[in-house]
Amino acid sequence: MLIKKHCHTTPWQGNIDIMGKCNLCLQEKQLITKSHIIPDFMYQDLFDDKHKMLSFNPYERAKGEGYIKKPSTGEYEGEILCADCDNSILGSYEDYASKAIYGGQLHANECPTFTNYKNQAGIEFTLCKNLNYQKFKIFLLSILWRASISSRKFFSDISLGPHEEIIRKMIFVGNASEVDNYPIFMMTYINDKSMPRDFVSQPQKRKTKDGFTTYIFFIGGLIYFFYVNSENHKIPDYILSETIKKTNEANIIHIPPGQGWDLILGYYGFKK
Ligand SMILES: [Zn+2]
Repeated sequence: MLIKKHCHTTPWQGNIDIMGKCNLCLQEKQLITKSHIIPDFMYQDLFDDKHKMLSFNPYERAKGEGYIKKPSTGEYEGEILCADCDNSILGSYEDYASKAIYGGQLHANECPTFTNYKNQAGIEFTLCKNLNYQKFKIFLLSILWRASISSRKFFSDISLGPHEEIIRKMIFVGNASEVDNYPIFMMTYINDKSMPRDFVSQPQKRKTKDGFTTYIFFIGGLIYFFYVNSENHKIPDYILSETIKKTNEANIIHIPPGQGWDLILGYYGFKK
């Protein structure tokens, strides 16, 4: 139950005036009024000059149809997290991911390198090395989890059911678990000049041909496929070989321009 507390707000902490149960630590605490579901830095190319995000349906766009411009100022929500969880726990993962992806000072042993290759099937990919398995995987899972606890319409397709609590614990204690537990498969369409990099689309739930439940997020030129599986439902090797691994390596598959979408999505088991 949320109780309005009539205390004054302190400018350096934002508007903290609501008591309630924090979704991450599960304690009764003051909740902050603005938590990002998808962190701002992932949208850094996503705002146009009017500070509005571009949005479109990825499946229509993949078929060569247009995208729509949807007014929005970012997706955030109030009264879901306490300041400690938002700033300290999630903030530390965001700090790492931001520097790892977009550049920043990191220790040499966790500062990623990116090299492009072609695999035996002729598919281009970027090999990321030195990408901290625990930090980066938990960061990505935290986006999925935040989208699941969010009541915003934009994330209405994201509902993790019993996996929500399992992933909450993983984030809270900082344990990214085994590589085949909630692997994340990444693609990019950055090579497709016909695709705008500066958009966001509504995250979607999809079943693969193998019957896996995936949640798909298009954010800033990258596509994240979250596999949410029971332990008995073994993830196929062609996903495990690409996802972020305990060796701190991950592959990002490049979608070739034009007709490449169907080819690549089909190759990795996605239905149209
Ligand atoms: Zn908390």
